[in-house]
Formats: sequence, structure tokens, C-alpha cells
Amino acid sequence: MITISGKSVFGGVSIGKLLFYQRNDKVIKRTHVEDVDAEWNRFQEAKDTAVTQLKGLYDKALADVGEANAMIFEIHQMMLEDLDYIESIENIIRTQEVNAEYAVATTADNFAAMFSSMDDAYMQGRAADVKDVSERVLDILSGADTGLKEMTEPCIIAADDLAPSETVQLDKSKVLGFATMYGSSNSHTAILARTMNIPAVIGLGEGLLQEYSGREAIIDGFTGTLYIDPDEATLKEMQEKREKDLEQKALLEQLKGKENITKSGQKINVYANIGNVSDLGAVLKNDAGGIGLFRSEFLYLENTDFPTEEQQFSVYKKVAESMAGKKVIIRTLDIGADKQVDYFNLDKEENPALGYRAIRICLTRPEIFKTQLRALYRAAVFGNISIMFPMITSVGEVRKIKEIIADVKEELKNEGIPYKEDVELGIMIETPASVMVSRELAKEVDFFSVGTNDLTQYTLAIDRQNSKLDEFYDPHHPAVLAMIKMAAESAHAEGAWIGICGELGADLELTEEFLKMGLDELSVSPSMVLPLRKRIRECE
Ligand code: PEP
Ligand code: MG
Repeated sequence: MITISGKSVFGGVSIGKLLFYQRNDKVIKRTHVEDVDAEWNRFQEAKDTAVTQLKGLYDKALADVGEANAMIFEIHQMMLEDLDYIESIENIIRTQEVNAEYAVATTADNFAAMFSSMDDAYMQGRAADVKDVSERVLDILSGADTGLKEMTEPCIIAADDLAPSETVQLDKSKVLGFATMYGSSNSHTAILARTMNIPAVIGLGEGLLQEYSGREAIIDGFTGTLYIDPDEATLKEMQEKREKDLEQKALLEQLKGKENITKSGQKINVYANIGNVSDLGAVLKNDAGGIGLFRSEFLYLENTDFPTEEQQFSVYKKVAESMAGKKVIIRTLDIGADKQVDYFNLDKEENPALGYRAIRICLTRPEIFKTQLRALYRAAVFGNISIMFPMITSVGEVRKIKEIIADVKEELKNEGIPYKEDVELGIMIETPASVMVSRELAKEVDFFSVGTNDLTQYTLAIDRQNSKLDEFYDPHHPAVLAMIKMAAESAHAEGAWIGICGELGADLELTEEFLKMGLDELSVSPSMVLPLRKRIRECE
């Protein structure tokens, strides 16, 4: 038996086969070939296989998610059959006498650069597609198997680290747990593991070897331990621990339908954070009073192109309808920093967390922002939707947002499309600047939601992604708590309400303090709703 220690990001025990996530970061070498005809045939065979794969994917997507979403695979097929693309590859192989891999990779880079430089947003989006189809051909040429194509049964996913875009693309019904070599407890991947309610251990280091793929494993998410080829005694112990955990969870079930009320009668709303429609089941199962944070950017991360207004509208409508009148706070696009989407074509930045992200993208690329706002205002007719804006630092930003909203409503009105006139608007308090001007901001909006993950990062000047800094990342720091208190006082002085949607909201050691500050709401991962309710009911 091999025992590896790391850091826990979510409790629970999972037992199953370990499967290593294969990342597609192969290096393409330029090699001379003697027989250019043979090389050209190699490419053509790989291309034909890719087209067959794409046909299969189209049929599957058509049955699973409908024609609009399946279209992308048809577009990819057309790209592979495009004469300019094929001629470029043939030309490189024949004139430079080089390998097919090099010709495909070079053509992909050239075409992507050409698409990116076009003015039209649709054509810019094609840059990611041409890279995507070329990657498929490269995989076939090299015989590589990327991602988790072999994931036919539920598995524990092992990786060096996982990006949020990789995590959201996993088949969640088949993920028993996560085990990674690196990663920080405050990363979005860790947050996703909590939202998905699956045991996860990170920071296992170099001891987690690729060769363990396919072997039996156990994650003890309580102690942050990974066991490979567990011996009988460990297996028995872990099975018992798992049973106990499930019993505890069953006990919490008795709190369903009960109020979030302290012994002295103070009430607080407990809502849930989600990233996806598929998290709705967990929200309802755990009896959350509403959705306090819908991270809408995951919709963008799951797509290969900008989600259309109709796609977004149907997702927001579904969430609003499923919550049947309960509050649903949808945060507008918070892309950038660790949440990268190819088709946005964002530049590489020295300090991405301090860079071009979230509301800064929305305010400078209003066509993207307006599409989302139109979908939100239309969906608001079908339930109790509130809209929240991330990374706010000034009153000016909020006023600009309101101007764009006014334009959007005017457009919808002129087009005769139904929308809700008065949607509750809020902002995230996640920068020190927003805390310092919170009194002025509170006059502009209906509510605040404190994003303690970023507020801690920016207050303590500590990169939340850097695992080396986990021991310094202290959300209990008096400066962070003072910021939350100040924002709460400002909100209440101006008649706004305030909640917390960062991970700190679920920190049961602080529940009493948050109640004392008079917070109106705490929004936590679905699995933390009932433990938090239990804690609130124990408070004086
Ligand atoms: C936060 O910063 O606390 C937050 C809730 O947003 P995210 O974690 O998505 O940045
Ligand atoms: Mg944030």
C-alpha cells in the first residue's frame, strides 16, 4: 500500500479506481521526411478519422443537447474539409519535406492568427475552433489519448492540477473524487469540488505518479490522504469511516424544513452557491433557501464559443423556474485570472488577478455584457432573479452598468420582447476599494455580497492560486473581518441588505461573529447548507 499526504479541500471518503487526467501539452517537433507522399497520406487518414469522430459527436450531441449545441461539431467537420486549410498542410509537407504534425500545427497557428485579427467577433471565435480541430488531428497522428475518454466507470481523478475549464468538462456523474499534485485550497477547482460535493485532496506532490493510473485507491478527504492499493485493514477502516460520514449526513436530514434561527430568535438566510444547472439538484436536496451565487462564467467555460442570448436565457429561466419563486442571484460574467476561455482571446498578463477580468471585460466589451443582460432581464420574468456584478471598485462602474442596463431594457422594449422592469441589483464586495467606498455604493444598489475569497486575496496581497502561500492566506485575519463589518454597517445605514458568498460564509467558527455583525444572508456550497443551519440553531 502506498500512502501520500496532501491537503484536504472537501471531506468525505471515496473508494475506486484512480484515473490520471491526460493533458494535451505535447511538443510538436519539426522532422525531415523522405517520403512526402506517405506523409501526405498519413495526414489524410488522420483527417478522415477525425471527421468520423466528429460525426459521432454530432449525433450524440444532437440526441443529448439539441441541434443548436450540436452545430459546433458540424462546423468542425467543415473546417477539416476546408480546401485552404488542407492545401496549406499539403504545401508545407511537400515543399518543406516535413512531418504531418508540424504541418498541421503550423497551419493551425497561421489560421488562428488570421481569424483573431479579423474585426468580426464571430470570425474571431473561429480561432479557437481551428485550433481545436487541429488538436484532434494531432492526437490521432500521435496516437495520444487526451482528457478522460476512457472514463467508462466512476473514478477518482488524479492530475498534476486541474484548471476550472477542465474540471467543468468532466462527466460529474463519474467523478468519485479529485487527487492533485499541486493546487491551492482557494482555487476555483477546490471550490468546484465542494460544490460538487466530492472528496478532494490537493498538494500531494511528486509522489503521485502517473503509473498509479488504473490502480485501486481511497481518498480520505478528512485527513487529506490518498491510499493506493489499500491493504485490507485500511480498506475496512475507510469503509467504516465512509459509513459514519453518511450517517452524520443522514442526521442532518432532520434539519430540512427547519428555520435558520438562533436560540434568541435571530434569523438569517442560508442560500447555496452553484456554477451550473446540474448543481440545482443538490440545492433542492439540501433545502437551501435560494441561490446566493450562480457563477455564470461556467456557462462560458463549458462552451467552445460565446453562449448566445437564447442559450443563456434558457439556462437562467430553468434555474429561476426550478427555484420556484426563491431568490436566485446570478453573477454576471467573472472571466479572467484563473478562469480562461480561449475564444475570448485574452492577452497573457503579468498579474492576471489584478488584470483584465470580470466587470472590466464587460464594461469594455459591452456587446458581450449586453447579450448576458438581455438574457437575464428576459429570464427574470420567470422567477425571482437578482443580478450581481463582480470586482466592483467604484461608484462610477456601477453607474456605467446602470446606463448599459437602461439601453438593454430600451432595446427589449422596442423589440417587443417581454422582460422584467425592476430586477434587484447587487454588487460583490471583494476589493478593499469597494469596502472603503461602501457607504456610497450602498446608495446605488439593493444588496452587497461579500466575496471573501478575493477580498482576502486583495486585502492580504496574497495570490489565492499560489499553493505555497496557503499558510499565509488567512481569511480570519482581523483586517478581513473588519472589512466585512464595515461593509455590513454601510449597507444597513443605506437600507441595503448584505450577505457573504465567499467560502468564509461556510466557516462554522465564524458563524456567531457573522450573526453579531447582523449579516442577512450566507451563501455556501450546497453540502454546507445543513451543517450551517445546525450551527446557527446552536448559537445564542
Ligand atoms: C469570491 O471572490 O469570494 C467569490 C465568491 O467569487 P469567486 O470565488 O468566483 O472569485
Ligand atoms: Mg471573486
